[in-house]
Amino acid sequence: MKRSNSKARVTRTDAVVPQQSPEGVPAGWAEIQREIAEASGISLLLVNGHQPPALAVANNNSICEALQSSPEHVKLCDPYCGEAHARATAANTITHYRCHAGLHCFVMPLEIETDRKLAVIGGRAFVRGVDYRETAERFRSGDLQDLSSDELFRNVIFADEADLDHAALRVSVAASKFKPVPLQRNMETASVTTTTERVIEYPAAKIESTQPEPGDKVESIDFAAPEVDESRSLADSIRRFAEQIDASDPTQTYQSIVARSADLLRAERSSLLLFDESENLLTMKASRGIPTAVADVAPIAVGQGIAGAVLRENRPLVATVDELGRSSLPERLYKTSSFISYPIAIGQRRFGVLNLADKIGGGAYDLHDLSVIDLLAPQIALALERAQWQQRANQFQLMSITDPLTGLHNRRYLEARLAEELSRSKRYDYPLSFMMIDIDDFKLYNDFNGHQAGDRALEIISQCLHAALRKVDVASRYGGEEFSILLPQTTLEEAGVIADRIRRKIMTTKFPHGASQPLGMVTASIGLSVLSPSLNSAEAIVRAADRALYHAKGHGKNRAYAYHPLQGTGRPASADSQEQ
Ligand code: GH3
Ligand code: MG
Ligand code: MG
Repeated sequence: MKRSNSKARVTRTDAVVPQQSPEGVPAGWAEIQREIAEASGISLLLVNGHQPPALAVANNNSICEALQSSPEHVKLCDPYCGEAHARATAANTITHYRCHAGLHCFVMPLEIETDRKLAVIGGRAFVRGVDYRETAERFRSGDLQDLSSDELFRNVIFADEADLDHAALRVSVAASKFKPVPLQRNMETASVTTTTERVIEYPAAKIESTQPEPGDKVESIDFAAPEVDESRSLADSIRRFAEQIDASDPTQTYQSIVARSADLLRAERSSLLLFDESENLLTMKASRGIPTAVADVAPIAVGQGIAGAVLRENRPLVATVDELGRSSLPERLYKTSSFISYPIAIGQRRFGVLNLADKIGGGAYDLHDLSVIDLLAPQIALALERAQWQQRANQFQLMSITDPLTGLHNRRYLEARLAEELSRSKRYDYPLSFMMIDIDDFKLYNDFNGHQAGDRALEIISQCLHAALRKVDVASRYGGEEFSILLPQTTLEEAGVIADRIRRKIMTTKFPHGASQPLGMVTASIGLSVLSPSLNSAEAIVRAADRALYHAKGHGKNRAYAYHPLQGTGRPASADSQEQ
């Protein structure tokens, strides 16, 4: 949020450590980096040595910027981002760390130049509410209070671990394309550093297209504000806000968010509306001081009315009824004309809108009130996220969702998640990929070694999947010896990297009777598909992955094929399917 507040205190010295020295940025990289940073909502920095300065900085966390610009405070960052480049160079693999300010980061070596060892620092994001609260408290009354300024909270980054993983993957894919290895048919490999392994050899030729068959469709927060400083109890209440939210079940969570924030903002009326992505509607979940029962309040569309507009714009509104024109307000009798409508979001993820009205005593809401909600909002968002998962877990618990042999999700869960992720991907225009995996010649494995040995092999396969996948990926036992992986926010290209990682993991894992298999080891074939205008239903996506799998089997097994609905001819199958 970008709001200026005249009461800000800036006591840091005028000397400022420069943050960026853009001369040495490889042409074109800064744009790519900015695009990924914007899409994922995290910070990305290209570095070539001790920090600061970086070569290129995208979406920097304003807390980091303030700390690293200050000659007194930059030292605190030295063992973390300061040394990140040295760490990346020494480890030659992605490394995750949490810095003194509670920010989650990764550093990844970047092989886009031969003469310099560049690296990318990514993240600088609060992943846990408690980390944010602790850091905010250091600025308010701890060792960082002399750094308070208007700019400090201009761009605080919140994200979840999945956002960091996705961004890392995107950086690695972008880096591999940035300096493409010369094409050699069927032999081309691109070195891609990924989130979990050192270097992936990605045989691009194996991710091939298959022909469609007939019928296929194909702000600023002013901690120095006198009101906050002077009111110790308010400060304490803000800090303890999250602890006071009843997290026993989602309904209690909604109720206590409304009650606690109404208490803090002295609002007689308050309500919480949650955003339902699949319906694109805001539905009231809890209220205080509003005569209508929550269940009787009709849902509103995004963009519609005040709350709908606040959610769409992702910007809070402090206003009076007169400023807006009476026609846009619901026909409820308010005592005062002033209200706040505040969007609750983490990065790109929108949870809903908190409305507060009728300030006790009749006064109007102002920027100070807004800065209080600025501090509450991330805590509310995290509580809502937890409630969402609770809700879903409750739903899914009703239908047993785990496969007892492998511990993976079962097909039922997969189908429910696929429907959910599909609607999210369509709404936000995110990519979504899917794979089907089938063990090669598994009937023979059973025939030679017995059904029990077969069952043990299935367990080992599930461990291979765990090892090769990211937390965001949803692995399921689709049936028998078939597995499926749902890859949210993942392009076909990224899915190809992951498919190959899985394939290699399986073929290099020791199975008790692996040598008895026709290829001398246990292998699997993989079919991939991706959401597209012509593959836009769960059934179509699964069918397409199945068809690609069929082609992978037909072309020698132990390979990954992708389905391209519109491509007329597939490239010939590569002949090197059994390479190690
Ligand atoms: P392909 O390479 O074409 O996939 O050959 P395949 O022999 O693997 O053929 P298919 O996929 O049709 O084989 C399915 C076999 O997998 C049949 C059965 O023996 C075995 N299988 C399926 N479910 C289980 C299971 O739960 N436990 C065990 N042990 N074996 C299973
Ligand atoms: Mg099968
Ligand atoms: Mg099979």
